[in-house]
Formats: sequence, structure tokens, C-alpha cells
Amino acid sequence: MNFAIVSRGDEHSNNVKSKMKQYLIDFDLIYNDEEPDLVISIGGDGTFLEAFRRYVHRLDKTAFLGVHTGHLGFYTDWTVDELEKLVIEIAKTPFHVVEYPLLEVIIRFNTDEKPLRMLALNETTIKTLGESVVFDVQIRGEHFETFRGDGLCISTPSGSTAYNKALGGGIIHPSLEAIQMTEIASINNRVFRTIGSPLILPKHHTCLLQPLRKNRFIIAIDHTVETYSDVKSIQCRVARERVRFVRYRPFPFWSRVRDSFVTEVKPLDD
Ligand code: NAD
Repeated sequence: MNFAIVSRGDEHSNNVKSKMKQYLIDFDLIYNDEEPDLVISIGGDGTFLEAFRRYVHRLDKTAFLGVHTGHLGFYTDWTVDELEKLVIEIAKTPFHVVEYPLLEVIIRFNTDEKPLRMLALNETTIKTLGESVVFDVQIRGEHFETFRGDGLCISTPSGSTAYNKALGGGIIHPSLEAIQMTEIASINNRVFRTIGSPLILPKHHTCLLQPLRKNRFIIAIDHTVETYSDVKSIQCRVARERVRFVRYRPFPFWSRVRDSFVTEVKPLDD
């Protein structure tokens, strides 16, 4: 089996990477960061998002696994203390894979620039610098509303616990193939009206955003941010691709939600 390791890049994560790489090579696994079957991220959720981004072009051939070198993450379940146990599992046990849905984002332009297709593991957010965004929002080809506000966030089920949650969105179990659209500070008064609630769209229900004022946007896909000009439309739907997580033991979604948001953690200086 070919493997690759993506480290957060701090000293601790780099040391863990070197140790793990050597252990796995000792077990006759092949380090190949061009065509890995298994990608191990060492760091936090941000590192996992980066590992996903690096190998997004070969999701059907790559499965992901996360080791955290800080706090427990949503995508990182193994601790550094469990490294040797994990290496033995990787070397000796055929892995079980769990698949989660992804978000497909297609940006089209008013120029002859080719449409840009991207996949998000957590979400996309669309904002402008300073002014409000004004969009015609279409769902399944029909006008739904005119949105005015700071922006919109469209997330995956596994991303529903990230930015989406901070915006008041619901938490969606990743076994549901859906995307969720949440508003970022919409303008609502007697003149302008938006739905005001997060919308959950099933597979095949496409959401199309067409700019009605400015067509220059700051678009984030997970942890990456770019500015795009001359945007004609932004299309979002559940992607046909899925992300594959390696599991050697259960890592139930609701336990992760509980442990991250409900279980009390003692402050460090207590
Ligand atoms: P970061 O370092 O600012 O991390 C933000 C936090 O989000 C970290 O604590 C991380 O563990 C957590 N996180 C990431 N994915 C998660 C998930 N699926 N469920 C629950 N928590 C999750 O930024 P980063 O490391 O570059 O990560 C980018 C992510 O940060 C974006 O995808 C977005 O979801 C999130 N974000 C959140 C807010 C907010 O909550 N107000 C604002 C901007 C970005």
C-alpha cells in the first residue's frame, strides 16, 4: 500500500510525521506522495482540510485518516500516544471505509474564462469586501428569493458543525446526502425579505446564485480564500464524488458532536 503524510508543519507535527513515516516503511509500506492509497493528516482539522485539498483530484483512489497533535478534531480521531497501535493497524488490518458527501461548487464567469469546478469538505462562503452581496437565489431552476446581506454559507453535512453551526445552521448527520445554506447577516425589513432560516437541500436540488449588483466576490472553499471578478453565477449541489475516511474503530458522529460541544473540558489553569 502506498501512503502519504501531510503535516501541519509545526515542529511537533513534523516529528510525529517522521516517526510515523519510518514505522510504516519498516512495515514495507511505500511512501508515495504522488499516488497514495492512504493519506494521513497530522495536525488539526485545518491540516485535514489541506490534505483533502491536495488529493481532491483522486478521491476514488485515496482514503484519509487524521492524527491530532492539538485538541480532538472533527476529522482527526487518533492521538500521538496511540501512534504505535495505529501503525500496526495500518500495516496489518485491511481498512474499513466510511464515505461522506461533499459539496460541488461551480463558478461561471461573464468573460470567456472556463467555469471553475471545486469540491468542499466543509463549506463554501461567498462574501464581498465592504458592500452587501445581492443575489438572485434560484433553487431547482426557480426563483426563490433575492438575498441581501453579508453573504451566504453552503455547507456539507460533515461541515455542518463548523462555520454553519456558528451561523445558527442545523447539525446534519453525514449519512444524509444534502447541503445546507445559511445566511450571513441578511438584511430583513419592510423592503427586503429573505427566508431567514437555514435551508437543507437534498441531492439533485441545485442552488444557483446570480449576482444582481457587484460581481466581484470573496469565495472561501474550506480553509482557502480567493477573490473572483466578473462572476456570472455560483452553482452549488451535492457532489457525485465522496470523501473516504479510514476507520479501524468506530468514530461515531454524535459522539464527536457531544465531545466537541457538550462535554465540559476543564480550563488548563484549573
Ligand atoms: P481555523 O484555524 O480558524 O479553524 C476553525 C475551527 O474550526 C477549528 O477549531 C477547527 O477544529 C474547526 N473545524 C474545522 N472543521 C470543522 C468541522 N467540520 N466541524 C467542527 N469544527 C471544525 O481555520 P482552519 O483550520 O483553516 O479551518 C477552516 C474552517 O474554519 C472552515 O472550513 C470553516 O468551517 C471554519 N471557520 C469557522 C468560522 C466560525 O465558526 N465563525 C469562521 C471562519 C471559518
